[in-house]
Formats: sequence, structure tokens, C-alpha cells
Amino acid sequence: MRHIPLLSRKRRTGVSLRLFRRSASLLLLLPAIVLTAVQLCAQAPTAYTAKELLTTDPRVFTGWLETHRPPLVSPSQKARILETLPSKGEITSLDDAGRQKLAALKQLLQATDRESGYEVKVTDVAYARIVVFERCVILISKSALMLLDAEDLQALAAHEIGHEYFTVEYASAFTSRDHRRLKDLELLCDAIAIVTVHRLGMNPARLLGAVEKITRYNQKLYPTRIDGTNYPTIAERRSFAHRVTAWLQRGLV
Ligand SMILES: [Zn+2]
Repeated sequence: MRHIPLLSRKRRTGVSLRLFRRSASLLLLLPAIVLTAVQLCAQAPTAYTAKELLTTDPRVFTGWLETHRPPLVSPSQKARILETLPSKGEITSLDDAGRQKLAALKQLLQATDRESGYEVKVTDVAYARIVVFERCVILISKSALMLLDAEDLQALAAHEIGHEYFTVEYASAFTSRDHRRLKDLELLCDAIAIVTVHRLGMNPARLLGAVEKITRYNQKLYPTRIDGTNYPTIAERRSFAHRVTAWLQRGLV
């Protein structure tokens, strides 16, 4: 199991108790980001669409990621959010493999200067999924933790924290049912994840590998629960990821 190198790079929720229950539907339905955090003053992205992203200089985009990063949720706000979470349904007793994977995930958060901003929790949910709740809690279902190896988990976490940049836009698109824009934002978060793992010396291909593992698992066991309304297809994501990787390499970021 290879962990990411620790670089010196600078760098209210009426939560239902169902969140952690075995049949928890909230985790299944929860969008990849939480829509109540609309007070966040995210600025308009430089790369407005995934397509436009590839026409920019990768160095400009990576610079934008540094300068436009939204502030982390404050410790007091995070504490309040954590208090709203139910105690039931969280898995706190993990085996060695599970603990090592979470340690790798925390390395990713540390390497991206987000360690203090996020709590990581494993939920007793069979559907494989990772989501960020209220911009400060990473929820990992037990099946996702089982399926993914450490680098998969790191790459998917990089995608999830990429949503930080688009909180307002995502909420707006979700409210207006702009499925096209929601899909585009997913691709942009894939791009952020690829940039992130690339800069940390990891293999960018891990992102789509992890997405495919989770998708195949859920398609096999929960075919009726799959809802691709707001998500690009695997083929679209893979195609875009290839283009992003080539774009990065051309830019020598
Ligand atoms: Zn996403």
C-alpha cells in the first residue's frame, strides 16, 4: 500500500438519524456537496466549463486553485455541525486495513492543508459512496472503504474537496435542475482531483479507477438505486480525465 508523500508544499442542519442507519437513504441521496452552505462566498471560476478549462494554461488554473480556495469551516462551526450528527450508524471499530486507509486519507487532507477542516467518518451503509457533508465531514460508507485501496480513497477525497470551489454554483444548478451544469461541475471536480494527485506525485488514473470500482459495485448490487441524472457517465469521465492528464503534462505543472 503506497501512501502519498507528505510534501512540504505550502501550502443546522436537521440531519436525520437515517444518515448513519443501515438503510440510510440520506447518504444515498445526499448530493456530493451539501446545499445549505450557500452563504459561502465562492468566486466565479476562471474555468467556467470543463471544456473551457482545457483551453487555459494549466499553471493559471493551478494558481487559481491556490488563490480562490474557500476558507475552511471554522472550528466552532464544525463543532456545531458535528453535534447534529447522530451517534448511531457510525462505524468506529475498524480493522487494520480500514485504519490504514483512513490514515492515508488524512495524509491527503494534511498535504492539501485541510486536515483541520474535515472530520472523517465511516457509516454503516452498504451502498458504496463517499460524500462531503456541510463542507467539513467526509462520510465514507463501509462498502466504499472495503472496495477502495488507500490511493483510490485519496483520489476520491481529492474530488470531493474539489467541490469546495463550486458550492454556490452547485447549489444554484441543483435548485434549477440544471443537470447539464451539474454534470459539468462533476467533471471540473475530477479535474481538480487530477491536478491535486498529480502535484502530490500520485497516479491521476487512480481517480477513474476508483470511480469505476464504486460504480460497478453499485450497479451490480443496487441497480435500481443508480441515478445518473446529475453525473457524467463513466465513459465521459474517463475521456475527460485523459484529456486533463494530457493537458497537465503539456503544461508541465
Ligand atoms: Zn462530485
